[in-house]
Amino acid sequence: MSEQEEVSIFGRIIAGEFGTEFVAESENVVAFNDINPQAPVHVLIVPRRQIRSVAELTRADDALLGEMIALVNEVAQKLGVAESGYRVLTNVGADAGQTVFHLHWHLLAGKTLGELA
Ligand code: AMP
Repeated sequence: MSEQEEVSIFGRIIAGEFGTEFVAESENVVAFNDINPQAPVHVLIVPRRQIRSVAELTRADDALLGEMIALVNEVAQKLGVAESGYRVLTNVGADAGQTVFHLHWHLLAGKTLGELA
């Protein structure tokens, strides 16, 4: 994040400003419920560091990506959807409908999910 860039809403959640309960967390990544769920389970997996989107990631972030994957699978286990299945997706930029410019993966589950687009 550049010095001029404002802290994102997710940055403020991560800082504990709203007392948001985390579904799970690890050293560099947190998971919390989406405020406007699109499925019975809709959890956001978010790195503590503010990265705008997947487009900003480099090979230097390999370890962070591994940690995000580990937290996705931990949340799926914890919420009982590991066997029934789940979808993980992330939006990049306007056409994809990205609204929060702090990298996050949506974990959706708990029903039969529709087609992707
Ligand atoms: P995207 O459109 O992919 O950038 O996703 C942003 C997601 O953040 C949407 O699903 C919103 O419902 C969710 N969201 C926005 N503000 C909050 C918040 N304060 N707490 C939890 N989820 C939020």
